[in-house]
Amino acid sequence: MGPSGLVRVLVLQIMPATSSNKPYRVARSKTGLGLFATKPIKKGTRIIRYFGPILDSRIPAHDEIENKYLFELNGRWTIDGSVRKNLARYINHSCRPNAESDVRPRERKVFIRAIRNIEPGDEINYDYGTDYFKAYLKPIGCKCESCEKKRKKLRAEARAERTKVKARTEAKAKKAGAKSAKKKLNGHAVGKANGSARA
Ligand SMILES: [Zn+2]
Repeated sequence: MGPSGLVRVLVLQIMPATSSNKPYRVARSKTGLGLFATKPIKKGTRIIRYFGPILDSRIPAHDEIENKYLFELNGRWTIDGSVRKNLARYINHSCRPNAESDVRPRERKVFIRAIRNIEPGDEINYDYGTDYFKAYLKPIGCKCESCEKKRKKLRAEARAERTKVKARTEAKAKKAGAKSAKKKLNGHAVGKANGSARA
C-alpha cells in the first residue's frame, strides 16, 4: 500500500457514511422522525428550503388535495411538501423553536432559517402557527420540549401539593389520635391506681 492508499483509507474513515455538506440529517425524534443539526448553524442562517408542487386554490382539483405537509403561502398558493425530496417536511413543530419559516409568497418559496445558534445534535424546529396548532396539536397535546417541560413542572407541582395535603392530614390524624390515646391512658391510669390501692 502506497502513501496515497493510506491517505485514501484515512479519508474514508474520517468521512461519514453519507458524506454531505448539509448541516442536517433526518433522525429519530421523540415524535417519530425529525431534522437534526450535524454542524453548528449560526443564527440567521438559511438552513433548508421547504419545497414541493405549488397548488392553486382556484383549481378545484388542487383544493381537494389533503395532507399534513401543505404549507399555505397565502389565500391562493399552497406548497405540497409531501414530496420525498423535501427533507424540510421532517422538521417538527416547537412552541419555543430555534428556527422560523421565511415565507415568500411572491416567489412562492419558503425557507427555514435559524433564529438561534443551533448546535450539532440539536433538533431543528419552527412554530407551525396558530391554525395548525389548534387543528392538529392542541387536541392531542403538543409534544414539543417546551410543552413537555411545562407539563412536567405542573405534574411536579401537583405532586408536591398532594404530599403537602397528605402530610397535613396525617399530622392532624396523629394529633387526634394522641389526644384520644391520652384520654384512654388517663382513664386506665385511674383504674390501675384504684386497683393498686386495693392491693
Ligand atoms: Zn408545544
